[in-house]
Amino acid sequence: MAELLGSISYPPSLDESSTLTTTLRDWALSHGLVIRAPIKEEDADERATHVPLTLFPSPFPKKLFEEARGLQTAFNELYVNVANDSEFLNEITKGLAGVDDFMSDLWKLHLEVEKETGGKPTQPLTLGVFRSDYLLHTSPSSEPEIRQVELNTISASFGGLSSLAADAHRFLLKADEYPTSQLEMSNETMPENPSAKGLAAGLATAHNAYGVPSAVVLFVIQPGERNAFDQRWLEYYLLETHGVRVLRASMQEIAADGKLDATTKKFSIYGKEISVVYYRSAYTPADYPTPETWQARKQMELSTAIKCPSLATQFAGAKKVQQVLVDSKVLEKFCPDTAVRARIAATFAEILPLDADSALGKRARELIATKPEKYVLKPQREGGGNNVYREKIPGFLKSLPDESFWNGYILMELIEPPTDVKNSIIRNGKVTTGNVISELGVFGTALWNTVSGEILDNSEAGWLLRTKFAESEEGGVAAGFGSIDSVLLI
Ligand code: ADP
Ligand code: MG
Ligand code: MG
Repeated sequence: MAELLGSISYPPSLDESSTLTTTLRDWALSHGLVIRAPIKEEDADERATHVPLTLFPSPFPKKLFEEARGLQTAFNELYVNVANDSEFLNEITKGLAGVDDFMSDLWKLHLEVEKETGGKPTQPLTLGVFRSDYLLHTSPSSEPEIRQVELNTISASFGGLSSLAADAHRFLLKADEYPTSQLEMSNETMPENPSAKGLAAGLATAHNAYGVPSAVVLFVIQPGERNAFDQRWLEYYLLETHGVRVLRASMQEIAADGKLDATTKKFSIYGKEISVVYYRSAYTPADYPTPETWQARKQMELSTAIKCPSLATQFAGAKKVQQVLVDSKVLEKFCPDTAVRARIAATFAEILPLDADSALGKRARELIATKPEKYVLKPQREGGGNNVYREKIPGFLKSLPDESFWNGYILMELIEPPTDVKNSIIRNGKVTTGNVISELGVFGTALWNTVSGEILDNSEAGWLLRTKFAESEEGGVAAGFGSIDSVLLI
């Protein structure tokens, strides 16, 4: 059995008189640890509810937490190097041509922009706000290890609310609301989380590098975004800590009002010059409802505004890239340092392509036929809810128009998290207790020059712990499966 806690019982049980749940709920409501009410509710814009939260911080091995955080600047650099290699990415997109229209369209747009600028980008600087996600992997024979689920290069969320979740649990500790626990609960084992400040600092560094103090950062958002407060926290830190103003607009609004100056190549909206375009949208086909929204993306890409991320950087976060990086020779190309490379590779799970010809592709087909229960199938999509799990894989693949479409997917070994961790989740004020699985995300920011390759800023920027009940395959917080958590280091 995959164990983490051994004979330790955690979390401690609450007695009848405990006020922990209401204290946590009210702390969340009064500190902006909130999410907008579902759109179907009346006056949804005016209404918010506390974000789903765990009552207790979830145990996480200290050594592995530190390793994940310690690796972040190396992962930042790895993905900067990938994003800078247009030829490499171009090869990857060839395999997606005709089978994944969205990814192909994004890449086509990148190539058009390269052509129009004659290979000399209008803005050489690019900003990355990355989040590398891990699950603990356990096996009967060894200690738990961290295994990377994916690395997000666009729209990595919850940096704003995640800091508050750690604050909330630290408040409960201070308020003496936690019953005596077999695991040490203290300020040391329950660390502060700098993610909100860290991401705001990354955005501010890019804004300052743009060099026009009066310009504003544009948050590109989805209409009706429920997770708006997570984004707002970054906006507030940007203004209050760094004196940087923010504007929010959807792709449709940008398509209607955004302007690329033909001479200066400055991008503006509502009459304001934009220093940094920060995408919390534009990563899924639904974010481009009209041809004009594609045009808007192109105009921003052609402008002097610093993109977070650029099209190439967004593409570097494709699952297909993650699969190719598992090849040690490819990894070596982008991460020349032997010792660092070994640590990065140690976090990789088995990931295979699904082409009909290569040895790896053949192996994938064999595995799907013989032991699909050990694998997850992933398309080139972001935002959760897109994967196909276990025994459903063969039938799903057969339902595709023909085998060439298999190339749009990767096959990933299922990571096996510990099965003996329990927690309670409060959602809409109701508490449910059960076995849980936690996914650790580590944020990173990087600002680099795509022409010279020079990295001007490379920082680790705090973390996110999302916890879901063990029965649920995906952990989307807004989608109703997951919750925000913080770590109890063991
Ligand atoms: P997305 O970009 O949509 O977030 P992910 O690769 O993160 O896609 O997959 C979504 C979720 O599916 C993850 O948060 C995790 O809960 C689950 N998942 C993905 N890959 C694995 C894996 N290899 N093993 C176990 N669970 C996984
Ligand atoms: Mg993702
Ligand atoms: Mg994910």
